[in-house]
Amino acid sequence: MPEVPTNGSSSNFRDEVINATPGGENLKICLQCGTCGGSCPSGPDMDYSPRQLFAMIDVGLRDEVLKSNTPWYCVSCYYCTVRCPKEIPITDIMYTLKQIAVKERLYDDSDAPEWSESFIGFVETYGRSFELGLATRYHLTHSPLSKFSLGPFALGMVAKNRLAFRPERIDGIDQLRAILERAKQLEAEL
Ligand code: SF4
Ligand code: SF4
Repeated sequence: MPEVPTNGSSSNFRDEVINATPGGENLKICLQCGTCGGSCPSGPDMDYSPRQLFAMIDVGLRDEVLKSNTPWYCVSCYYCTVRCPKEIPITDIMYTLKQIAVKERLYDDSDAPEWSESFIGFVETYGRSFELGLATRYHLTHSPLSKFSLGPFALGMVAKNRLAFRPERIDGIDQLRAILERAKQLEAEL
């Protein structure tokens, strides 16, 4: 991960994030202990760890934070949130950052939103993620040559039964779709 940039000044950005996040006030008492980043399964893919991101929010690096891929690689597992000693709603803060980035189209430098859209597409169609399809679509779009180096790894995962060759639809997909549809309606009403 890169060094965290600093500008030495504080700004309203932290308050903006706090006000848009239920329980966000606790962000002010972040210890910078790093438990969140150490817990995060997506950490290696993130531009900045959650801890680094919060330090950047603190000093008002709005653009750098909103253009980073970190919130987009958050898979909402809540592991960091339950382990944070200061009960900071880290996962919800990631949602807040995504909302602001989408509203202001500040994510253009990142390919992570595309990853998110592909993920959601599989969930809407099959009711679950399909890792092989997700990785294939992503690498064909962004770095086709890397497909060759990933091949042996993917085959090893398949051989160990850790990766499915084709997606399987869950039971009750219609119910899930109805829930997702309703969620979209509610979001549109906000
Ligand atoms: S675990 Fe909580 S207190 Fe520690 S760095 Fe992360 S957000 Fe801050
Ligand atoms: S909720 Fe997001 S940021 Fe927290 S550990 Fe999970 S993936 Fe990482």
